[in-house]
Amino acid sequence: MALLRTVGRIGVDAILPPRCGGCGVITETTHAVCADCWAGLRFISAPQCACCGYPFELDDSANIIGGEGVDGRTLCGTCLQKKPAFDCARAALVYDDHSRDYLLRFKHADRTDLTPLLARWLYQCGQGIWDQADLIAPVPLHRRRLLYRRYNQSGLLATKLSKMTGVPWDGLVLGRQRNTRSLGGLGPSSRKREVGGAFAINERRAAQCGLDGARVVLIDDVLTTGATANACARILKQSGALHVSVITVARVVR
Ligand SMILES: [Zn+2]
Ligand SMILES: [Zn+2]
Repeated sequence: MALLRTVGRIGVDAILPPRCGGCGVITETTHAVCADCWAGLRFISAPQCACCGYPFELDDSANIIGGEGVDGRTLCGTCLQKKPAFDCARAALVYDDHSRDYLLRFKHADRTDLTPLLARWLYQCGQGIWDQADLIAPVPLHRRRLLYRRYNQSGLLATKLSKMTGVPWDGLVLGRQRNTRSLGGLGPSSRKREVGGAFAINERRAAQCGLDGARVVLIDDVLTTGATANACARILKQSGALHVSVITVARVVR
């Protein structure tokens, strides 16, 4: 069977050469992007806020001045002012025209073949988080949106990341009890209102996957104001989660 699979893979590769996950030109390796596309992507790296992951190097406006939190970690001004409900957020990329392009194709254009590429980026930006994690949970889509889109892109990433890290994942422990409007175009307070009460914990699943005392990694596509991540982290903690990290493909940097 394994041999058959190998032969099958060689056959497919011979017919379909690996293509760039960005522009589609033929590349040497599978699940990669070409040099041009790579150059267009802005990966986030240290120094960054120890809590929300805000990259300090991009802060040319100087309107966010970091400082030391009570635990001695370097935090951005926003987190210093009010600590989010999640403990830590990391994103692979700055949300801009390039990263939005990948996410739109992944979400709306049936480009599920981008999963391994995006999962690798998430894996890398979650260094230091995976080895302590107990559970991976994707931010859920409402049933209606799931029917329309046919797959939850965060669920695909969670499955892949679970395979890469050995950390179990559960796509049902965190559910949506109410469909939210699209958050695009809404300000921070409207977003907060819109997602408030939108999520619910499936207590039976929570017991099964040992949510009580667990260190949870939430997976989502974009961190915008953090309203969704906060709402999810809050109810996960109400149901016993000890620590909640959020890992997204991209994050808005203002
Ligand atoms: Zn390319
Ligand atoms: Zn921060």
